[in-house]
Amino acid sequence: MKHYRLTGGILAALTLLTLAACSTGAATESEPAEPDIVVVDEETGVTSVDETALALQIDTYPAGDLTAEEAAGLLYMREEEKLAHDVYVTLYDLWGLPVFQNIASSELTHTEAVKTLIDRYGLDDPAAGTVGSFTDPTLQSLYDQLVDSGAESLESALRAGAAVEEIDIFDLQERIAQTDHGDIALVYENLMQGSRNHLRAFTSTLERQTGESYVPQYLDQASYDEIVSTGIETGGAGRGGAGNAGGRGNGRGR
Ligand code: MN
Ligand code: MN
Repeated sequence: MKHYRLTGGILAALTLLTLAACSTGAATESEPAEPDIVVVDEETGVTSVDETALALQIDTYPAGDLTAEEAAGLLYMREEEKLAHDVYVTLYDLWGLPVFQNIASSELTHTEAVKTLIDRYGLDDPAAGTVGSFTDPTLQSLYDQLVDSGAESLESALRAGAAVEEIDIFDLQERIAQTDHGDIALVYENLMQGSRNHLRAFTSTLERQTGESYVPQYLDQASYDEIVSTGIETGGAGRGGAGNAGGRGNGRGR
């Protein structure tokens, strides 16, 4: 039971996160402050899911039964987050651009967050340990296609990264609408917040590196514009999204 193994370091980190939440007004006085699920690397602006904080919050929801749709959604999202990770480590090997490595490490926390739910509901984990290998045929062909196109040029690689994030946001929105389980929605909302930050990072890096701007392929233009016109989001999503507001438009311009 890893979430009961609170070391001094984690406790200190939780305390710091709690203090940070209070100082940004993310917690109200009537409600005890919860540690943030999403943590931001100040250096890179890359967001990751804090497994300990996530497990603590997941445990506050009843597990109950899943519909077939919810179960299929978890299996799919487990591999879709793995796809993001696998595409980025592969493109990092090809191009050596730090943004791929930084975001790949974030995706690892995302796919593990979904795995936490897969374990909680006693489902069989579809994810293979091998990079570039998927149980779901749609994701397998998407992976192959993205890596092929990302190998063409650095510009194509950054566009492939942005496309992954768009697809992820699109799919997470769909899955959130399909569930009434608070724990699943909580994880998906936080993954989606990460995806918005990643989309900002890839599209701003594309513009910086090539002078080209990104045109959304999966999201509608208005939704895309809304995402990239705001700064990175910190503090985690869900539970009323209090953390969202604090992090939006913080001037990082990513
Ligand atoms: Mn992700
Ligand atoms: Mn992502």
